[in-house]
Amino acid sequence: MKLISACLIGCECRYDQKSCRTDLGEQLLSQGKAIPVCPEQLGGLPPPRPPAEIVGGDGFDVLDGRAKIVDNQGNDVTDIFLAGAHQALKIAQTAGVTSAILKENSPSCGSSFIYDGTFTGKKVQGVGLTAALFLRNGIEVSSERRE
Ligand code: SF4
Repeated sequence: MKLISACLIGCECRYDQKSCRTDLGEQLLSQGKAIPVCPEQLGGLPPPRPPAEIVGGDGFDVLDGRAKIVDNQGNDVTDIFLAGAHQALKIAQTAGVTSAILKENSPSCGSSFIYDGTFTGKKVQGVGLTAALFLRNGIEVSSERRE
């Protein structure tokens, strides 16, 4: 059993409600092999919502208090993202999940790349907050592009 970013199975949970549906996601779900989770919704951010990026580092830096997550209106949404990440971890641990397929580039779910915090579309190497929390707790993460 894997945990999967809910947007990858067609849930319109992205900030802009655009679909990120993948055949892999739908296949795993239909086979009963995946649990869909959206950390940002779990934290209390239903769509649509302003886009958010990590400023000052990546998800590990947020966990360690060296970076924050802000939306494009300038609101600090770090605590909301943290709450959602911990809820997602609780679901994964309760279900005995040991690996997750997470949506690349997201400030929550990115596992190799995230946006750089300038809202200019530039990506940098790094992991999102939920991906970092999963990795710190022994859950493997990969992106929909590496499956
Ligand atoms: Fe939710 Fe993660 Fe998909 Fe963003 S990338 S919409 S946080 S599941």
